[in-house]
Amino acid sequence: MSQRPDAVVIGAGIVGASCAEALARAGRRVLILDSSFAGGGTTAAGMGHLVAMDDSPAQLALTAYSGKLWTELVPDLPGNIEYEPCGTLWVAEDEEQLVAVREKQRTYAEFGIEAETLSPTQLAEAEPHLRPGLSGALRVPGDGVIYPPNAALALVQRAIANGAQLREGTRVDAIGPREVLVGRERISCDCVINACGAEAAQLTTGLPIVPRKGHLVITDRYPGFCHHQLVELGYLTSAHTMNAESVAFNVQPRATGQLLIGSSRELVGWDGTVNRAIVRRMLDRALDFMPGLALTSAIRTWTGFRPATPDKLPLIGAWEDTPGLWIAAGHEGLGITTSLGTGQLIADLIVGATPAIDPAPFAPARVHATAGVS
Ligand SMILES: Cc1cc2nc3c(=O)[nH]c(=O)nc-3n(C[C@H](O)[C@H](O)[C@H](O)COP(=O)(O)OP(=O)(O)OC[C@H]3O[C@@H](n4cnc5c(N)ncnc54)[C@H](O)[C@@H]3O)c2cc1C
Repeated sequence: MSQRPDAVVIGAGIVGASCAEALARAGRRVLILDSSFAGGGTTAAGMGHLVAMDDSPAQLALTAYSGKLWTELVPDLPGNIEYEPCGTLWVAEDEEQLVAVREKQRTYAEFGIEAETLSPTQLAEAEPHLRPGLSGALRVPGDGVIYPPNAALALVQRAIANGAQLREGTRVDAIGPREVLVGRERISCDCVINACGAEAAQLTTGLPIVPRKGHLVITDRYPGFCHHQLVELGYLTSAHTMNAESVAFNVQPRATGQLLIGSSRELVGWDGTVNRAIVRRMLDRALDFMPGLALTSAIRTWTGFRPATPDKLPLIGAWEDTPGLWIAAGHEGLGITTSLGTGQLIADLIVGATPAIDPAPFAPARVHATAGVS
């Protein structure tokens, strides 16, 4: 970039790509730096479920807002983002979970999110490969699925079309007041956005972001095997509780006809090796809900690191310790979904526009307010 950039976005995962896209669209000169390549971090390891999630009112506000932005943007994105408006089925195993399904439906209704409760018969008709005897499900038709790395690349391309520049293979060594350091190169700008996902705390000391490892398994092609993103109701508990490890039933139909099977959560630092015991537990859980999966062939398994925060909300906003520094990181298992809302919030806050949702619950300043609280 021959001219000084207005904004330097560090990290070209889906969150950084979205920040860059929104800032470039708002007329800012944007430089995107990534130590590896765009869309190659956790974004390439994720499942791509675009989901309204209600662990807290703030989480639901951000996921619902982001879902709306995805629906508006998808027609302008290339076909290789593999958008499937398949909806989600939250599957209830017993009557107690069915009560929770109805509560979830009420909560979604308050946010204007369409959802319907399916009886056991309707559930069996909708997904014949689920085991008999389940109690019902909540169908959320507005949810969907994308292929995350291509979605990140598409957002980067849109930013570039609005004048942004991308430098891959460029590791930022340090962030200073309105500048970043790359080796001996000092790049000055008005604002810096740390969008380094699970690695964000390595550049900004004090960010409470830790890597939370997850495994996924992908099968060969079985078109029509299932039609919705299928998630057990207990998934939210697995995501919410910072257990040493947990698994939950989560199966996704891909545009290719493949099935993506998840999900697991582990706190094991940066050890990315495949843990066969937890993959076994994850597959056993999936087989319990969908016995027919036993007849499918798994062709690959991999791991990725969710950027996790103690209060399960991302950090989006100014980092007051360093002038000009903004944080857009800590999206745990929802960063594909919430990337668009995050990018728009960051751009609105930087240009001084009024954000569509309240940014206060995501403000990084809460880290200082809760320092010392586990
Ligand atoms: C198994 C699994 C399943 C998931 N499923 C879903 C799902 O279904 N739906 C959903 O919404 N979310 C899901 N997620 C979560 C989602 O993938 C993440 O929240 C999201 O990808 C985080 O994106 P990011 O841009 O913050 O981070 P990343 O994609 O990791 O991008 C960060 C980028 O920063 C770069 N970087 C790091 N340090 C530096 C540096 N010093 N200098 C320059 N560049 C740097 C990296 O190279 C990387 O490209 C899942 C995650 C996992 C692991």
